Amino acid sequence: MNKKLSAQLFQFGYKLLRILVVGTIISVTVFAESIRSQFYLHLPFPIPTILLYTSLGFGIYLVMGFAVDMGGTALSLLFSRIPELESSDLTQRGEELVRRAGLRNRFRFRLKIGLQSAYSTPRKKVVIDQDLAMTNVGQGDAILGHEITHQVPSHAREKMLRFLIYSIPSFALIFYEGWLPLTVSFPYTLALVMYPMKWAFHWGEYNADEGGAWLAGQENMIGALMALQIENGDYDSFTHPRFSKRIRKLQKKFGQAH
Ligand SMILES: [Zn+2]
Repeated sequence: MNKKLSAQLFQFGYKLLRILVVGTIISVTVFAESIRSQFYLHLPFPIPTILLYTSLGFGIYLVMGFAVDMGGTALSLLFSRIPELESSDLTQRGEELVRRAGLRNRFRFRLKIGLQSAYSTPRKKVVIDQDLAMTNVGQGDAILGHEITHQVPSHAREKMLRFLIYSIPSFALIFYEGWLPLTVSFPYTLALVMYPMKWAFHWGEYNADEGGAWLAGQENMIGALMALQIENGDYDSFTHPRFSKRIRKLQKKFGQAH
């Protein structure tokens, strides 16, 4: 698909998803509270039916949104026939970064042509676009450092812990409205954990950027993010903060580069 068009579609989808999340939380809470106070009996329209359909739509959209947002890269890779390439140069660089990070785990490093980004798996495999890795070695190392940081056990644990802490008010509300029928409470629960999940994911990205900057140099991490911003556009998603925010966060943390 045309790159600009897909970026616009993506941003539209993110906006829509946010509206659905907030809309579901507000409408279900109002619905539940109006029943509790008997006010609902005097309403002229069938709220449960309306709610059921919005929640169904929300559920479907949520799955789609995730497929595009999180799974976007993962799915396209799963079906892509682009082979992963081994490179002794990349492996050497990657292993040096792992050593610098003080990790004992064995990582595998692979190149892919046309990937235009990078990802890593819990099985300690880091895959990076060939151009990103090779055009500017310093920036390539910063991206590798970012991915390595994602696979550090303490990083994963803190992300999970943060998600649970951010979710406390949501869990309290879910428990309080626990008497709602499943068709309503299921999408309600999903909607209520979306933002805590987003905050935890965003924390994970900022933290991995910091790790990349620490392992490969602050200028390199910022340079890599700038290059990705030019390549992919600058927008938020539920899993990633926009590049400009990530750059600003690094500059704040390490001080502006001169
Ligand atoms: Zn990341």
